[in-house]
Amino acid sequence: MGDSLSGGAPGRIGENPQAGCGAPVRASLDTIVSRLRYDLANVRIDQIIGAGPDPVFSFEFFPPKTPEGEENLYAAIEQLRPLDPAYVSVTYGAGGSTRGKTLEIVSRIRDEFGLEAMAHFTCVGATVEELRTTLDEMSRLGFDNVLALRGDPPAGQEEWTKTDGGLEYSAELVELIRGDYEFAIGAAAFPETHIHATSAEEDLRHLKTKVDAGVDFLITQLFFDNAAYFEFVARARALGVDAPIIPGILPITNVAQLHRIASLCGAVIPDGLRRELDARADDPEAVAELGVAYATLQCAELLAGGAPGIHFYTLNRSPATRAIVSALKLLRPWESPLAANAAPAG
Ligand code: FAD
Repeated sequence: MGDSLSGGAPGRIGENPQAGCGAPVRASLDTIVSRLRYDLANVRIDQIIGAGPDPVFSFEFFPPKTPEGEENLYAAIEQLRPLDPAYVSVTYGAGGSTRGKTLEIVSRIRDEFGLEAMAHFTCVGATVEELRTTLDEMSRLGFDNVLALRGDPPAGQEEWTKTDGGLEYSAELVELIRGDYEFAIGAAAFPETHIHATSAEEDLRHLKTKVDAGVDFLITQLFFDNAAYFEFVARARALGVDAPIIPGILPITNVAQLHRIASLCGAVIPDGLRRELDARADDPEAVAELGVAYATLQCAELLAGGAPGIHFYTLNRSPATRAIVSALKLLRPWESPLAANAAPAG
């Protein structure tokens, strides 16, 4: 989705959400197993999408601005780790402001939690030489994957303007990475069209150029109407975009925050959902409950319809994502009879 929004997950480091007798033992065994697995085989995301019978679940986090936020982030990761995500990702703040922090958090998640973690990376405020320096650092740290983005204009700036000696579009960044580095490359896709695109057709044409430059997989901007995703995938395929397209889903937890995010990225809130949220405007708990129920149904339909995975915009919180993924793993909508009849998407 993009830039950081302050948030925080309740809970303590080391707390096992499936706690029962022997939970600490199970938690530490889980840790050892995932670390061993991680140490034995670093994960290239392009090689795991569609490789097994199950979809690829991933969780996005942002670098917090305060020590307390950081503590909450690692508590959320600890709580989400037992869900065995295929990978997690860490955003790159506006203006490249979190460069060091993004790389530090990605390294820590890989080393301490045994999870594959991917850094987001943008062209904002950097010359090509500076972009290369960061990519060299990612290589040195042993990263296997990178999400290549243009980035948004820094706060207070309406128009996108490229940095002198820098890059204009993400396709150029993809080209740079593909030319000189070994990373698996992800990029952004916009089912409801990028907010500053001149038209849906032009946006899709630029997406094709970007994928042809060397993108291995795409992750979409958040959306609340699955028809937008399915239609987008069909249009992309018709144009020859062949990379897997993983839908990005935001579990709604807070109405004011939802409106802020939706206005920043242009996501459409369907009328029915807006009505139900308005009806609960004074009841945060009821909003969060509806958010989980809505996102669970949304994900189930996407997976039954052939989406290759789900990327969750967690906002550094664990409860909603944990509930949704737990239910999905239990009911496995991608194996339902409905799924067998669906045309493959994603
Ligand atoms: P591009 O692919 O360069 O496209 C940007 C715009 O330019 C589009 O309107 C496109 O149609 C147009 N365009 C592309 N090529 C051309 C061309 N040759 N000629 C004319 N127009 C063209 N932002 C952050 O700052 N940090 C993050 O960590 C971050 N993570 C994200 C993660 C995901 C999954 C997503 C979906 C978005 C994320 N963003 C992040 C937001 C993203 O950086 C913005 O949406 C940005 O405005 C567009 O990035 P892009 O890589 O799609 O840009």
